[in-house]
Amino acid sequence: MSDKTPVCLFWHRRDLRIHDNAGLAAALASGLPVLLLFIYDSDILDHLPEKADSRLTYIYDEVEGLAAATAAAGGTFLARYGQPLAVFEQLLKEFDIAAVHTNEDYEPYARQRDTAVGELLARHRVDFLQYKDQVLFAKDEILTKSGTVPKLFGAYLKSYLALLAPEMLHPYGSAGAFVPANLHHASATLAQRPTLQSMGFERGGQLTTKAQLPPESVVRNYHNTRNTPANERGTSRESVHLRFGTLSVREVLRQAEALNKKLTSEIIWRDFFMMLLWHFPHTATESYDPKMRHVPYRNNEEEFRAWCAGRTGYPLVDAGMRELNATGYMPNRVRMTVAGFLTKHLFIDWRWGEKYFADKLFDYDMANNVGNWQWMAGTGAISAPWFRVYSPESQLEKVDPELKYVKRWVPEVGTAAYGKPIVDHKFARERAVEAIRAARNETA
Ligand SMILES: Cc1cc2nc3c(=O)[nH]c(=O)nc-3n(C[C@H](O)[C@H](O)[C@H](O)COP(=O)(O)OP(=O)(O)OC[C@H]3O[C@@H](n4cnc5c(N)ncnc54)[C@H](O)[C@@H]3O)c2cc1C
Repeated sequence: MSDKTPVCLFWHRRDLRIHDNAGLAAALASGLPVLLLFIYDSDILDHLPEKADSRLTYIYDEVEGLAAATAAAGGTFLARYGQPLAVFEQLLKEFDIAAVHTNEDYEPYARQRDTAVGELLARHRVDFLQYKDQVLFAKDEILTKSGTVPKLFGAYLKSYLALLAPEMLHPYGSAGAFVPANLHHASATLAQRPTLQSMGFERGGQLTTKAQLPPESVVRNYHNTRNTPANERGTSRESVHLRFGTLSVREVLRQAEALNKKLTSEIIWRDFFMMLLWHFPHTATESYDPKMRHVPYRNNEEEFRAWCAGRTGYPLVDAGMRELNATGYMPNRVRMTVAGFLTKHLFIDWRWGEKYFADKLFDYDMANNVGNWQWMAGTGAISAPWFRVYSPESQLEKVDPELKYVKRWVPEVGTAAYGKPIVDHKFARERAVEAIRAARNETA
């Protein structure tokens, strides 16, 4: 018999919040005192390219905030650094753990990690319970009438909205008991949380938007303003909070449902791409369409560097890349333009661009990033047709005719200091279309 008090653990991952959290609500309802846990996963951290990483800084601040809030409520928040399996092996020695609760994560690495952790816990007869929290519909909950994976967004959206009952958007409660800070004899270790420095990092840039719902006026106007990059409050700016779970998908959908159906459908794209990545995990690194796997991309490194730095001579592309480099954000329409330009005009493999975005985007999310890159490259389960090549000049005329956005990021535009286009649009379009057509073995 253990002399320790049995506890249950709630493991936070992409859900850095106490409120409206499906797995945490279940843990608190279990009747056992709940110990909160976050693991700084060394397998992920070791691959970060910069020592001053904005996203890690954000996570760190949020974890510290949660720890302070938990302490104020008389509870305990554990934060550990290491490989998740090793951390759990240690925790099993320190505590009498009755169960571990957590929310599902659909990325390929997370699924492997969770399988391994589940096996370890099972060997110790500890339940590992996972809940759907970051989406409303997951895995194969929405299929086509013939039982296949939906690949048309319109049909998926229709089924989604038909199945979306209002009570599914109700927030989960957070009533229950945390593990009191003085409960456990090893409490000396409880308060020791890693710091950025102890993990070998420094503070990175700060995020400017707060974890709160966008103002009602922004949401009401969303359908008019979403494609105007000069308007910094033209969109919800909630992607980063959905990524880290500092807002819940239920609260953002509740607001959108009440005020703007266009925003609802955009948020549902996120569920859609997560569903696709769960069904087709190999698409994280490979084109979904087998006919697009042997496209002879040029992959010119100098041109890639010019794209990364915002020096292509196409103002909208350059403005977007410079905004990304400076802030970790880029508006959706501009993301589409720079992605189309890289994969078609420069004819560079979408995976190069996907990786660059993954390193730089504050809201980087594998399912959304891969899904959108494959869309733009014409390689995905759902895609723009492979032969569609958007002109960055006509995009600019549509979304920023007065160059307000462009001038913010490329002040030298229109002067002799601004470089010439790196490639001619018409020439580049024909080059890409012909090469892809040949690789697909198709005739014009
Ligand atoms: C090449 C490319 C890469 C992208 N990479 C990412 C990424 O890594 N992470 C990410 O969150 N979004 C990504 N997007 C989608 C989209 O650009 C961002 O979600 C959006 O710009 C974030 O700003 P917002 O929150 O103000 O969006 P809003 O327009 O206010 O939309 C609200 C929410 O809906 C969801 N959403 C909107 N558009 C899309 C979309 N096309 N695909 C999936 N979800 C969407 C997001 O969760 C977003 O926060 C990418 C788009 C492109 C074209």
